Amino acid sequence: MDNVYGINLIPDNDAERIAALERYQIFNSHKEKAFDSICELACELFSCPISHISFLNADTEFVKAEVGLNGLQFVNRGVGFCSVAILQPDLLLVEDTYKHELFVNHPYVTDKLRIRFYAGAPIITPDGYIIGTLCLIDTEPRLFTEKEQKLLKKLANVAMEQTELRRNNIALLQQRDEFIAIASHEMRTPVTALKAAIQVLHAHQDEGPIELNKIMIEQANRSVNKLTYLVTDLFDASRLAARNYTLKKLPFDLGNLITTCCDFITVSGKHELDIEGDLSVQVVGDEKKIEQVLVNLVENAVKYAPYSKVISIQVQQLPDAVRVNVTDSGPGIEPDQLPHIFKRYFRSENGAPQSGLGLGLYICAEIVKQHGGEIGVKSELGNGSTFWFTLPLSV
Ligand code: ADP
Repeated sequence: MDNVYGINLIPDNDAERIAALERYQIFNSHKEKAFDSICELACELFSCPISHISFLNADTEFVKAEVGLNGLQFVNRGVGFCSVAILQPDLLLVEDTYKHELFVNHPYVTDKLRIRFYAGAPIITPDGYIIGTLCLIDTEPRLFTEKEQKLLKKLANVAMEQTELRRNNIALLQQRDEFIAIASHEMRTPVTALKAAIQVLHAHQDEGPIELNKIMIEQANRSVNKLTYLVTDLFDASRLAARNYTLKKLPFDLGNLITTCCDFITVSGKHELDIEGDLSVQVVGDEKKIEQVLVNLVENAVKYAPYSKVISIQVQQLPDAVRVNVTDSGPGIEPDQLPHIFKRYFRSENGAPQSGLGLGLYICAEIVKQHGGEIGVKSELGNGSTFWFTLPLSV
């Protein structure tokens, strides 16, 4: 790096600073209107011919947006003014380059650009790293009032907010792409099985070994059920997220629902259902939706804790609510995954890959919240999981 300043331009935390910059995936990105607009606004506001937003990596200043620099994109770190500006968390103000020892002999001052005035406000991440600058440049020396300095710093904060928003957008787009990949993968499996079953049935429609036809019809049935679950999850999740849902809240017998809705798990003989607690409790809510929550939690226990022989449902009366616990003695959940478990699209990558869109618990949480209740999980690796939810006794 050719350093025209003769001072150290590398702050002690440069490696961390560059790592912070990389989080934003903004270095070397395309031009974007929002950043151009900030530079245009700065020029208008301060009646200044040149403004730019730059981000600085290990050896290069990348000009993300500019007015008056004729499309300049990259500047060597040893030359750019930004490299000096990032050395301090405050504004770097050079009201007259001819009178500033660092800049008086700078090639941009003595040669073609003839910069006389420079003000660079640092762009600082929420965790305190200076990743770039918002700069004003003039070919005349000028005085820059305290008020103007404050304003420029505020605009640099706007540039940081825009950088954050941009990152969130990128993350959302990545999440959407991942989700589409998972959803299409999940749907392809049952569609392929369905297609195969129909082909066999078609080939044997007249003569066919009856036994084979029966197996194929079962396979087709299973595949259609699987597809129905997936499509219903997608539909429910989008309606719940948009709050485009009306709950039909009526008083109902929670104990009765619990004793009837989850029997299906005992059919295979692999699991037993143990129901405990006060089953006489009445609640007000949308019975079909609460059934969906219960079935989902119990199905998850079967799916993610397949060797848990006993799955228990416990009903607990609290002073003004009822709490339902669904407990398995399966593999449990990693502590760092617990905070994310109810988020939309969250699927754990642990252990054997399980089918699912990562929507089940999100749907449960939305239903419970819309009933004014709470939902949570208590789990320890190797020691099973208890998923619980509460419903207010009077809604
Ligand atoms: P899906 O709809 O794909 O089954 P969920 O939202 O129901 O997803 O669950 C999200 C993640 O939570 C799953 O990928 C799984 O890793 C974890 N999980 C849910 N229930 C249990 C359980 N009883 N034991 C262990 N992990 C579980």
